Amino acid sequence: MTIKGSCHCGKTSFEIDGNVPEQLTRCTCSFCSKRGALYAYYQPEQFQVNASTEDDEIYRWKTKLVAHHFCKNCGIPIFSDSPAFERDGSWDKKTRRIGVNARLFDDFDAASASVSVIDGKNLW
Ligand SMILES: [Zn+2]
Repeated sequence: MTIKGSCHCGKTSFEIDGNVPEQLTRCTCSFCSKRGALYAYYQPEQFQVNASTEDDEIYRWKTKLVAHHFCKNCGIPIFSDSPAFERDGSWDKKTRRIGVNARLFDDFDAASASVSVIDGKNLW
């Protein structure tokens, strides 16, 4: 299936070639807990974002390995382009994954979805 979504102002939209995962992911790290996103993970080739370069803003912190993209116009978090870390924090130094903010999916209630929690507060 194709999942579509967009930010609040509509300047940034995206399409995903895939399904909504059985569980979304919530992370407890200092950034994610303030940001409040519920993530659905995909391989980079499944994800297509439509935004002009002037609306696509990136925030990086700590290791700077993760690019947190947000809409510069309305401030809504869109997706995070990150190393495909294993649960123990290891990484093969090449595989990436896209964590999309499932709260933006069209016709989908992320707040009612099943959620698994990553203990980012203690992992990084
Ligand atoms: Zn926007």
